[in-house]
Parts: sequence; structure tokens; C-alpha cells
Amino acid sequence: MVSVKDIQKAKENIATVISETPIFSSSQLTEICGNNMFFKGEHLQKTGSFKLRGATNKVKRVVKNGATFITAASSGNHGQAVAYIANLLGIDATIVVPEDANQSKINAIQAYHGQIEKYGWTSAERLPRAEALAKENQGIYIPPYDDSFIIAGQGTVGLEILEQLDNVDVIVVPIGGGGLISGILTAVKETKPSIKVIGVEPKTANDTFLSLENGTITSIKETKTIADGLRASHPGNMTFPIVQKYVDDIVLVSDEEIQQAQFFVMERMKQVIEFSGAVTVAAAIFGKLSVQQKNVVCVLSGGNVDLHEWHG
Ligand SMILES: *Cc1c(COP(=O)(O)O)cnc(C)c1O
Repeated sequence: MVSVKDIQKAKENIATVISETPIFSSSQLTEICGNNMFFKGEHLQKTGSFKLRGATNKVKRVVKNGATFITAASSGNHGQAVAYIANLLGIDATIVVPEDANQSKINAIQAYHGQIEKYGWTSAERLPRAEALAKENQGIYIPPYDDSFIIAGQGTVGLEILEQLDNVDVIVVPIGGGGLISGILTAVKETKPSIKVIGVEPKTANDTFLSLENGTITSIKETKTIADGLRASHPGNMTFPIVQKYVDDIVLVSDEEIQQAQFFVMERMKQVIEFSGAVTVAAAIFGKLSVQQKNVVCVLSGGNVDLHEWHG
């Protein structure tokens, strides 16, 4: 299992690559939510999401061990992060994307000199393809969340929050496959266990919520949500035990609530965030957190909005 020591090591390992992102406050949201509201701005991270933290920690490691070629299966933020760090370290990366991947996401990966391979329509098809491609070319497949180096890298968000802000009471974190929250949980609970960590999932992608309820990893069939970074159909073998051990609560938000939260952050706070990053704000605005008068930090996990598709 990942420990806070691994996260401290990751922090040193990625320091020259990633940005320390700012924490915002909002008096309007403080008034609306009945808590002192703060926001960790990972939408301003290089490549537009926290995913660069885990990808950098992992890819630096495999390069140290001699890898010169890596693959990933993602048309989204993980794909961009892997392409970016491969380019920076001077190795080749192929990102396997769905046949119908939209052009602006492909453009972003190609801008970091990542090779694109279009393959299949579902992640169940893409993932084995990316693994096979790595194997055929003596490369390494970089998973999106279920890996101790990825988890440790994402956990650096938690250490940063603790350094940047005194007297944090609650941290609110989006859940996809669970890499981000399990990293933050490890960092926070092994440093200051009195801090509450609350996970947020879309109602229609509530696999971790259900898994927690059932006490075992549970898959859901369909994950139709506008928060495309949170569409994992089940939590990871490595991430789930950490969530099960440490998380204080998991709350659910609707797509409508996510949309309103994104609109609010853009209009009032002037910050461009994507739907997956807006779920934490939705949970706060729509009264799901069941805490009052506390210092609450919502993680804004990403800002990769496709402006060509955005009709906010
Ligand atoms: C990947 C992602 C998440 C979810 O992270 P997991 O580690 O899969 O739980 C949340 N928000 C954004 C913007 C993401 O890209």
C-alpha cells in the first residue's frame, strides 16, 4: 500500500515539472454554503489537470529503469499528461484513443508530440490494445489510476493543500477510478487524521459509492454523465482499499447540479473548469456535505473544456 512517505518522495520527484497551483477563496460561496470555502486550482496545472502529477511520478520512474517507449489508453487528461511528460523526458508515447475521439483532444495530444492510435469505441477495447502495443515494442503501459506511483503522484495535491492552508477541516475530492482521492486520503489521514475527506461522484457513475456500501468492488453497467473524467465503471484494486479504509463520506451529484456549479465558477470566480472538476463545488452548493462553519477545500481537478462543444 502507498504511504505518506511515498507521496513525499513523489513530491520531490515531480517538483521541477509540475506547478504549485493556487488556492482561491470565495466570499459568495462562503455565504451560500455556510462554510468557509476554498478551492485548490488544479485546472491551472500544466496540461490542464492534476493528472500530470501521477503521470510524471510514474514515467520518470520507468525512464530511470530504461524505458524509451510508453503507451496509455485515454483520449482525455491522462493521455495529455502522459504525452506531455514523455515529450519533456525525450521518449516516445503512443496514446490509444477511441475511433470517435474528438479532434480538439487529439490536437492537444499531438501538440505534445504524442502519437495517436485510434482503436475501438470502449475503454474495455482500448486498454488491452495499449498494453499489447507496449509489449510488442518493449515499452511500458502507463495506467490511469491503479498504480502506486500514480497514486503517490496524485497524493501530492493533498500535501500541497496542507502546506498552503492552516486549519483545514474538510477536503472535497472528485472520484473517477479513485487515484486522486486515494492519494489525497493517504497524504492527509497519515498526517492529520482529524481532517475529513469527502468524495464526490455523479449519480449516474456511482460505482465507488456502491462498492463502499457493498463492502466490495462493484461494477456498474453504464456511466452516462457529462463529467467524462469520472466515467470509470468500478474503482481500482489498489485504490478501493484505501478509499474503504480512510474516506469519511461519498456524496452524489446530478448532471444538472454539475452544470450549474461549473457555470457559477466560470461566471462568479472567473475560472475555467471542466465538469469533472465542478462536482466538488456542486456538492458544496447543493448542501451535500453535511458540515457547517468549517474550512472546506474543494479540489478543482481540471480545466479542459472543449470550447467548440461548450454551449454553457
Ligand atoms: C481523471 C480525473 C478525475 C478523476 O480522477 P481519478 O484518479 O480517476 O479518480 C477527476 N477530475 C479530472 C479533471 C480528471 O481528469
